[in-house]
Formats: sequence, C-alpha cells, structure tokens
Amino acid sequence: MARVHNFSAGPAALPERVLREAQSELLDFAGSGMSVLEMSHRSPVYQAVIDEAEATLRRLLAIPSNYRVLFLQGGATLQFAGVPLNLMRRGHAGYVVSGNFSKLAWKEGCKYGQAEILASSEDTNFDRIPDLTPVKERAAAGDLDYVHICQNNTIFGTQFHELPDCGSTPLVADVSSCFLSMPLDIERYGLIYAGAQKNAGPSGVTVAIVHEDLIEGGPARADICPTYMGYKLQASKGSMYNTPNTFGIYLCGKVFRWIEETDGLVAMAQRNRAKAELLYHTLDESELFHGTAQRDSRSICNVTFRTNDADLDAAFISFARERGIEGVKGHRLVGGMRASIYNAVTMDSVGALVTCMKEFERELPSRSI
Ligand code: PMP
Repeated sequence: MARVHNFSAGPAALPERVLREAQSELLDFAGSGMSVLEMSHRSPVYQAVIDEAEATLRRLLAIPSNYRVLFLQGGATLQFAGVPLNLMRRGHAGYVVSGNFSKLAWKEGCKYGQAEILASSEDTNFDRIPDLTPVKERAAAGDLDYVHICQNNTIFGTQFHELPDCGSTPLVADVSSCFLSMPLDIERYGLIYAGAQKNAGPSGVTVAIVHEDLIEGGPARADICPTYMGYKLQASKGSMYNTPNTFGIYLCGKVFRWIEETDGLVAMAQRNRAKAELLYHTLDESELFHGTAQRDSRSICNVTFRTNDADLDAAFISFARERGIEGVKGHRLVGGMRASIYNAVTMDSVGALVTCMKEFERELPSRSI
C-alpha cells in the first residue's frame, strides 16, 4: 500500500495510527458488537467516547473550567453566523479582515448588526497580517460586543504571531487551520472555533470553546437564532441537542489522544516550526520559487509559494504528483502552490517536497514547457 505525501489544505492528512485504529475497531467497537457508525448517540458506550474526546482536548489546551467545549456541525462557515447570532448583544462588533475567510465572517456579521472593519490587508491581496494598532484603539472604546479575527489564513499562508490587545472586549478567533498546531492561551479569547478537517480530525465536526459568561444569557438574537445554533443550549445538552457527528467526534478523540501521546502541543509546535523553517529556508535560497506571504506574517501551517510563471507552477505541480506529492496546488485566489504542513504531515514528507523542488529547479534549464 503506497500512501502519498499529502499536503492538502483540508480535509487533510490524518495520523496513520488513528486510521489504523479506526479500521481495526470499525466492525466491533469496544466489544459492543457494532460499529461506532451504527451506535446510538444516547448509548453509554458513545457517551464515553464524546466525554473522553472533550477531556483529552481540555488537557491538551489546558482549557479552564469556566469555558465550555462544543462539538458542532456546519463547518467553520456556520459559525460565521453563529458568532453574531449568539454574541452581538449590542449589535456592534469589530472584524479584522486578513483573508478570504475573515472577509466571509465579516460579511455574515453584517447581516445581524453593525460589523465594522477595524483593520484589513486586502490592499495587498492579503499577503500580511495588518497592523493591529487600530484594533487596540477601537476596542478601548468599550462598545464592541467582540473583535473577530481569523488567526491563520489558510489560503494566503499568513498567521497572527501576536494577538490584538482588545482590553476587556472579547476576542473571537477562527482558528480552523492552526487549531492544535501549538498551545493556545485560551484565556486570551472569549471564543475560538475550528473546523476539524485540518489538524483535529475529519470534516463535519466544528469545535468551539467559549467562555461561559458570554453564553449565559442565551443567544443575543434569540428571535432569529436557529435553536441548533444556540451555544448555551448546545453546552447544556453536551453537544447533543440533536444527533451529533458521532463518527467524526470519535475520530477527533483519537487524534487528540495521538497528540497527547506524542508529547502534546509544545512538542507538536516545535515539530511544526521545524517543518515550516525547512520550507521557508528552501524558498529563501531558491532562485525559482518564492514565498507569497510577507516574512513577518508567514504561517507555520500553510506555506504559499510560486514561480513567476503560471505554466511553470502547473509543471511543478505535475512534477510533484509524479513523485507521490499531492495537494500542493495553490488556491485560485493566490495561484501558485501551497503546502499545508499540518500535524500529521511528517518531516519526511516535507523533506520529500524540498527534494522535489530542488530537483525541479536543477532540471529547469533542460525543461521546455
Ligand atoms: N476558516 C478557515 C481559516 C478555513 O481554512 C476554512 C476552510 N478551509 C473555513 C473557515 C471554512 O471552513 P468550513 O469549510 O469547515 O466551513
């Protein structure tokens, strides 16, 4: 069985150990005589699965007891609406627009109240995290329900390396593509949410971690908030107001345990930084390839790069595929290439990509495209 080097942006590579474990348990889970896929979400066996997933996640991120953990559906995209519906109590929130997804979140916020752009990097096609000074100044006025950021911009390969200082205004972060790639100081946030399909598991599960004070009063827009999307209700029902993504949460729990057993998030972050450094070093040395994100905004999760020629980019993507390297085609909004180097992507795979880039560059003079 040949497994490729998978640099997909999400759904993305999962740890092989997790896949094998799931395979071995698929027909008979924990002696129940049935698959997790076939089991009632109300059964004690399944309750233990979701409880263990939450407990492991709490240990990994040192989540304080006054934060609630939710396993939701609808992707991070649904939370673009869930956030204002639950939290826009005074009808006014701030958004940092640093990429496609934060812009979508802002647009969704505009449907439910005043969503003010506090900083943006759209003028340079989102190749950087914008200066956050205006965010601090604006938040200090104290009239915003929250400030929303997208902490890692999957498409543009940029990442916040420090969080905006929002004072007492709650910080809300879409952490989809950097979730569990490094430790997070949960207390800096009012709410974080993440689609699982990068570092945490399969698509179809969205993890939300929210301070209980923010949800205590029920949804800000209880008049129109779909019952399913009420954070308070979901918290009180243990993410089981309705049928959750049972198999997805089961796989997330296995990924959480894998992270814990491979020495936790500090060690994971070190490995991720080493992978990113190798790739960025290669780009900085190359005469052919160059990174598209400004240096001080570079992401350690998604590395975006290109040549100066779209045909050469396409040739490289095919060249890589012939060598068992998949998923490096960049998003259409940036073009070029993108290597997503999430937790389950090994240093070995990054090494294979680097070797392939060097080989392509060396052979370039003899290449006619
Ligand atoms: N936010 C970020 C940072 C993302 O990378 C993505 C998807 N790649 C989304 C939001 C949208 O997520 P979903 O497809 O899970 O709705």
